Amino acid sequence: METTLDIQERATALLRRFYGYNSFRPLQLDIITTAVERRDCVVLMPTGGGKSICYQIPAMLGDGVVIVVSPLIALMKDQVTALTANGIPAAAVNSMQTEVENHHIMQQLFTGRIKILYISPERLLMEIDRWSRDLNISLIAIDEAHCISQWGHDFRPDYTRLARIKELYPHVPIMALTATADRLTREDIAKQLCLNNPRLFIGSFDRPNISLRVMTNPGKSKRVSYICSLIDRYRHDSGIVYCISRKNAESMNAELKLRGYKSVVYHAGLSVTERNAAQDKFISGEVQVVCATVAFGMGIDKSNIRWVVHNNMPRNIESYYQEIGRAGRDGVKAEAVMFYSYADIATLQNFVDESGQQSINTEKLNRMKEYAEASLCRRRILLSYFNETMDHDCGNCDVCLNPPERMDGTILVLKALSAIVRVNGAVGVTMLIDILRGASRQELMQRGYHLIKTYGAGRDLSFGEWNSYISQMIQLGLIDIAYNENNHLKLTAYGLKVLTERSQVILAKYVPFERSSRKQKGKEVVEPQLTPAERLLEQLKEVRLKLARKEQVPPYIIFSDKALLEMVRMEPVDMESFSKVEGVGEKKTVKYWKPFVTAIRKFKGISESLGAGLSHEETLLLLNAGYDVGAIAEAKNIKTQTVYNHIASLIREDKLSDFSSVITREQYLRVMEIAKENKEDMYQVLAKEMPLGLPSVALAISDFLLRHKANS
Ligand code: ADP
Ligand code: ZN
Repeated sequence: METTLDIQERATALLRRFYGYNSFRPLQLDIITTAVERRDCVVLMPTGGGKSICYQIPAMLGDGVVIVVSPLIALMKDQVTALTANGIPAAAVNSMQTEVENHHIMQQLFTGRIKILYISPERLLMEIDRWSRDLNISLIAIDEAHCISQWGHDFRPDYTRLARIKELYPHVPIMALTATADRLTREDIAKQLCLNNPRLFIGSFDRPNISLRVMTNPGKSKRVSYICSLIDRYRHDSGIVYCISRKNAESMNAELKLRGYKSVVYHAGLSVTERNAAQDKFISGEVQVVCATVAFGMGIDKSNIRWVVHNNMPRNIESYYQEIGRAGRDGVKAEAVMFYSYADIATLQNFVDESGQQSINTEKLNRMKEYAEASLCRRRILLSYFNETMDHDCGNCDVCLNPPERMDGTILVLKALSAIVRVNGAVGVTMLIDILRGASRQELMQRGYHLIKTYGAGRDLSFGEWNSYISQMIQLGLIDIAYNENNHLKLTAYGLKVLTERSQVILAKYVPFERSSRKQKGKEVVEPQLTPAERLLEQLKEVRLKLARKEQVPPYIIFSDKALLEMVRMEPVDMESFSKVEGVGEKKTVKYWKPFVTAIRKFKGISESLGAGLSHEETLLLLNAGYDVGAIAEAKNIKTQTVYNHIASLIREDKLSDFSSVITREQYLRVMEIAKENKEDMYQVLAKEMPLGLPSVALAISDFLLRHKANS
């Protein structure tokens, strides 16, 4: 029997060969081994944590097939394309394909030509009884497994019937995967699927490459200009703006389009066709932004999403984390920015009140609010929510990067609190600031607020400063927002005490929002100064885009941003060094090394072009990777005879010394025999017995042996 170590060694080789990655992430190898050892497991990892590889590699480790059950039909195509691009035979059956197609795929599954099958739960339940028990299944993976639980946030009744799998196939291991963390859901998954003593794997929920930032009460123009600055900064990549409602998504989309950006809208109010079209445009990179409601993004596996903006605060931390997790799946730097406004709280509270599970959901909303208002490292707050402790500040959130400088805010607090008292708690934040700053807007005058004592008492501070200080007063519990009364501000008992006792209050000093250096108006776009590495990256992205257009696949299917960054770092100038780049597997090496290496050579000013001789090197690489001659000919689209000629040259150049996979001992001896007795027409004679080109390999070997005998 194969030992765990053997399995792990083979798995690592497959990871290198098919995905081009050098090492597994934490837990991946243990999960794979568990599956190969035919034991059930539950896998909890954040979005982008690397779950797919856990069930894909077992498909290549064993003789059987892997069945992947997923409710995300729209994304199956994408997964299959990505696998195929890496040289792994995969397919999907679902309601988006014709019955003829589905039937054909099932046939291929039975003949072993497909190693990984994606299937929807309803389809699986339809098919599974008909599958002969002889179908050799290595593993059944249940993706988005939280859908089986009523406790989860996305319950799907179809999922509950999946318990049938264990009944029919008690000995096939099941791997249930989800990005949802809470304990109830997790236990429910195992119970509902009737898993047999499953191992539980909980990955770290930390996604250190995503920077976190919250902006409190930004006005509309500030929001829009911030989003524009993100689009500009990542103009070759894309981002998502999550909005609280369809209307809100539509209006943000309109704002961005007005400013000339390529944006689409996505929400449940659109028809399926419209939604698919929007998603396709986003995935293919045709648009840079999608303005969407939460309906968007389940399972989106686009690795070059560089930023996610929440135009409104989400309902709970689970959703928030899942949504920001769609950014930076390739592990490269990404940004998550949330706009937090008090006005949203009322809307969110309404959702909660209508949700049926009021008390749980109110609690969840409160935790979200605490996150938004925090003056501690935000990542620590998030991770502690998922019961993970982090013993240091992250250094990659707004709080860590701009640790608040403290100041004595007593005077400011007294001014604000007394103004609230004087207007009988009948104003919201904006009006309060206008009063303090002595604005002369009509409504203010009409209501006589210009006559109160504190009118204009805070003229020396900007609107932004007051905005920040008032939110801190709210966080400190001096002021309460009456969400049920137009978000009017009220003094709390603590606020009243501070006001009467004039006690000292420490506030965090206001840090202004750094504006984008470029002007948005008038469309005059100043090209940013790029470093050489950034220039090369842009050129490689161009190469990728051209290839993607030609093959009609999204750019990230060719290579992830991460892989391109690695190319920039390593600057491979030939095929061999290209094949060593992290994220470049075997199939993609052969297919794509030329255009990328050519671009890099040009960038480095290497004038000599890639000669024909390099084709030999390619053959050598493939031989070393275990391809046989037929497979090499197919991969490179050349004749087998040409491949043999390459091999003969490689042997003559002393670059290849293991011939066992190329020629048998009998074939070699036969060539030697004929060569000795009949040199004139030996090729004609041998052509009847063995592939063309093989005799020249034998002759090269003979010379090689002579040469080395002479040397030793
Ligand atoms: P999930 O399904 O958990 O959301 P994925 O399986 O899509 O995440 O993985 C996210 C990204 O991480 C993908 O681009 C994937 O190729 C990459 N990835 C996964 N495992 C590794 C690894 N061991 N080394 C490098 N990159 C990896
Ligand atoms: Zn931090």
